[in-house]
Amino acid sequence: MNLRKIAPASNAFAFPLLIKSLLNNSKLLEPEREIVYRDRTRYNYFELHKRVAKLANVFKNLGLNGGETIAVMDYDSHRYLESFFAIPMTGHVIHTINWRLSPTQILYTINHAEDVVIIAHADFVPLLTQLAAQFTTVRQVIVAVEDTPMPDTTLPVAGEYEELLAGASDEYDFEDFDEDAVATTFYTTGTTGNPKGVFFTHRQIVLHTLAIAINFSSTAAACRINNADVYMPLTPFFHVHAWGFPFLATMLNMKQVFVGKFEPEMTLKLFMQHKPTLSHCVPTILQMFVSHPATQAVDMSGWKVIIGGSALPKSLAKAVLQRGIDVVTAYGMSETCPLLTTIYLSNQDKARLDPDAQVAARTRTGTAAVLVDLRVVDEAGNDVPLDDETMGEVVVRAPWLTQGYFKEPEKSEELWRGGWLHTGDVATMDARRSIKIADRIKDVIKTGGEWVSSIDLESLIGLHPAVQEVAVVGIPDAKWGERPHASIVLKAGQQATIEHIKAHLEPFVERGTINKWTVPESIAFVEAIPKTSVGKIDKKVIRAGLLVV
Ligand code: AMP
Repeated sequence: MNLRKIAPASNAFAFPLLIKSLLNNSKLLEPEREIVYRDRTRYNYFELHKRVAKLANVFKNLGLNGGETIAVMDYDSHRYLESFFAIPMTGHVIHTINWRLSPTQILYTINHAEDVVIIAHADFVPLLTQLAAQFTTVRQVIVAVEDTPMPDTTLPVAGEYEELLAGASDEYDFEDFDEDAVATTFYTTGTTGNPKGVFFTHRQIVLHTLAIAINFSSTAAACRINNADVYMPLTPFFHVHAWGFPFLATMLNMKQVFVGKFEPEMTLKLFMQHKPTLSHCVPTILQMFVSHPATQAVDMSGWKVIIGGSALPKSLAKAVLQRGIDVVTAYGMSETCPLLTTIYLSNQDKARLDPDAQVAARTRTGTAAVLVDLRVVDEAGNDVPLDDETMGEVVVRAPWLTQGYFKEPEKSEELWRGGWLHTGDVATMDARRSIKIADRIKDVIKTGGEWVSSIDLESLIGLHPAVQEVAVVGIPDAKWGERPHASIVLKAGQQATIEHIKAHLEPFVERGTINKWTVPESIAFVEAIPKTSVGKIDKKVIRAGLLVV
């Protein structure tokens, strides 16, 4: 194809898409809006800009000149927000350390990412001290001290975060540079092997931020956001940059409230004080928060909550809708920055649909977000029929997908085989191209020649009034190949037997929602369901507990 190109003026500026542009105009409209950290710190956007400049000067004073990786090991905080800007804006890469990984995995990620400086909350200093002898690249640690004195440590401490900021100038001239420079990196854990590093460039973060803004604001539908929202993330910042929302909230100059170390009491206190209107989290956190006795009398109407990371169970959607919470599902993964899909429920449908239909609409996985190409394909790479029944793998293209795994060429090729990023998620697609994730490929239950979605089964079992939480995994079966096993946590003070659960599923068999052989024979009532480092159900641990690998 011939394309037409026109020579630019000799002084025309080819504007690079850099993270600094997300910050630059954020104090023009409502600069007095606040950034709040627990009940300790409050400041406005003028101050945020100054502190980002100060942090940039701290890096300069430490002799850092760009191109190096600076890690952050902190709870969700104003410091983290400052780092999200100051680190990439000075040409460095921010590594958001997942402090919920095991010490061995944390050490692996620090060395693999080639961190040279770590900004660490004092709580993590004892662990880092233990690991320090095995660091291969770390030269300095900046410690953020709150109520405790500076911990005793043999780490090469460059200083205390606030003290270093206090000694730095609040002016910094952030240079322009190549938008394809890497801005962020973090690690995702699979079922086997070491964590894998994903990475995103300035251009990708900027485009992703614009896309989530458009996706959640430009249509007249459920859970739309605007700059008057009060943003309170309930996702750890290390989990896919808190899904990119801190960049969005800052760009839109929203008031932001950070809960720090997640404690229901502090979260509730901040909730009552600041009345957040926008949050996001995995379903287990929302479940924990809304079922906490202290939150029962709290008015939560109008609170917009975006659920991702796992499917939104119907029972939870129903319960929170009754409390006036505007809950919607979004889908993505570490490799995808993360946004891929969201549900779309127009204001007309929101007003028209009965509660069950709303629950059904809000718990789908959704349609591709702006700029995302999304297909559901069979093993040969052909699109599955749009019947919402045939399962296939979700494969995607978008401007913000990781272009590989850091220093893992084979796994990178595997991820991107055929020029599409393979999500490893199994889904169905309906005639309007809305998808419904059935499972991770490895979690889908293959029984009697059919694929059964553990997520669907969990959703149906979760509708039993005594069930608080449920996880379903496949266990080997001589006759059927695999059969489902359900682990169930009952609500406090409630009773149910295996027979009750099976009887509850019977009408769904009669209606044809599920097949007879999908009703689990194997059901265990348990105290708690194991969770991953980001609060999702950990099926690997459940399978290991059942001696199924
Ligand atoms: P992570 O990389 O830890 O963010 O995990 C990404 C995975 O979480 C995806 O590949 C999906 O399996 C799952 N996931 C994320 N969002 C959803 C959703 N809305 N519904 C079902 N599964 C989801």
